[in-house]
Amino acid sequence: MSLRVSTICPLTGDCGLRIVNGETRCGNAMMRDYDMIESEMALDIVMQSVQLLAPQTLRTFDALDLILAQEVFAQEDLPPFPCSSKDGFAVIASDTANPRRLIGEQTAGYIADLQVEPGTCARITTGAPLPPGADAVIMVEYTQEADGQVTMQRAVTAGADVRPVGQDIATGQRVLQAGTRIGPQEIGLLVSLGFTSVTAYPRPRVAVLSTGNEIVEPDTQPQPGQIRDSNRYTLMAAIERCGAEPVSLGIGTDRRDELTAKVKAGLSTCDALITSGGVSMGELDLIKPILETEGTVHFGRVNMKPGKPLTYATLDGKPVFALPGFPVSSLVSFEVFVRPALLRMGGHHLVLRPRVPVTLADTLPGDAERPEFHRVSLTREEGKFMAHSTGMQSSARLLSMVGANALLTLPKQDKPFAAGETAMAILLDHPESEPYPPSWVPSVH
Ligand code: AMP
Ligand code: MG
Repeated sequence: MSLRVSTICPLTGDCGLRIVNGETRCGNAMMRDYDMIESEMALDIVMQSVQLLAPQTLRTFDALDLILAQEVFAQEDLPPFPCSSKDGFAVIASDTANPRRLIGEQTAGYIADLQVEPGTCARITTGAPLPPGADAVIMVEYTQEADGQVTMQRAVTAGADVRPVGQDIATGQRVLQAGTRIGPQEIGLLVSLGFTSVTAYPRPRVAVLSTGNEIVEPDTQPQPGQIRDSNRYTLMAAIERCGAEPVSLGIGTDRRDELTAKVKAGLSTCDALITSGGVSMGELDLIKPILETEGTVHFGRVNMKPGKPLTYATLDGKPVFALPGFPVSSLVSFEVFVRPALLRMGGHHLVLRPRVPVTLADTLPGDAERPEFHRVSLTREEGKFMAHSTGMQSSARLLSMVGANALLTLPKQDKPFAAGETAMAILLDHPESEPYPPSWVPSVH
């Protein structure tokens, strides 16, 4: 084999053109052989390298599904004044007079000028402050009112149907821990105590770039040899679904200078970058060499099906996921590697979806070399999950993902997996319930 280095390349520009066995080859295809690593190791490398984003203070109402980065202590009591929990009459519980004279009414929202004394009562509504003198409320259902007199049909004990100051929350009490995922109830709790802003980990901003000379916008009619860009839209939707913010970088053609510029532009404004395509072994697969030049490639091949050429790099400390071009490969790699990483960056502790044992409904072919993420739809039968294959598992066939609610994790095996056997499955429609490292495998460290 002869090797000649030139600086002008008709394909990609300044790459270090070479001639191999008399054939001219673009120097960018001169990929070094990346070690094939197992997917557990790949996930470990990703999860070790990603950093939490710096917490930000934002409006409480905008913090839904973010992770709280502060502890929250109540600065006031709730309720802030003793108030009635029923509609009825404010009374002195030990008063034995019956009927009692009605001296006025206290509805919610202000303080009436009333003093309840023995032999009297005041009409009161739910949420209204208990008038001075009174120590209990008797429900309207147990009373009869006529001519300014109220007859009580039951006795009450002091404190009945009164919510005392601080009953729900006392000043100084810790009401939320750092690391809590902010849901509707946390938003309500915060604003009820007057916290209209809160410090939380922000949503990671994630740039998404499609690559390939054949890729065109979906709203254009593809010319012969072209195909519509589906990956960018799939990935942006997946990013959105995991609570991060997608930023489209459009489509980059297979030119080194153009792709390099887009990669740098994306990372200058975003926390992470996802590319798709351009990581296989072709001459125009330029992403790996670009990432090598601009940053550090941590792995370039993963022993999995689909998704083998998955590449992970860091540039200026920011993660770059170079996903394979085939639509299923890119989405499965997103699910297995990118989603947990983005969640971690956003402060999440639970970053892995649940895995459960399932029973195979079909006999599935084994792969002697690569473990497979086989797309299935699960049904529940007699308390067991039955896994039904979504059919042909080609990495180009997005239909194998449509209708899939789980990924079977099949180990490599040189014979078929028989119907009725048990396998593990990742539940795709279930929220993350496991930390990293997960409890189901020991850490590789
Ligand atoms: P590559 O990894 O660039 O060799 O691409 C592998 C396969 O995925 C090729 O058939 C591409 O045409 C296809 N592909 C790459 N990018 C996209 C995309 N954004 N949307 C749909 N298919 C794509
Ligand atoms: Mg390509």
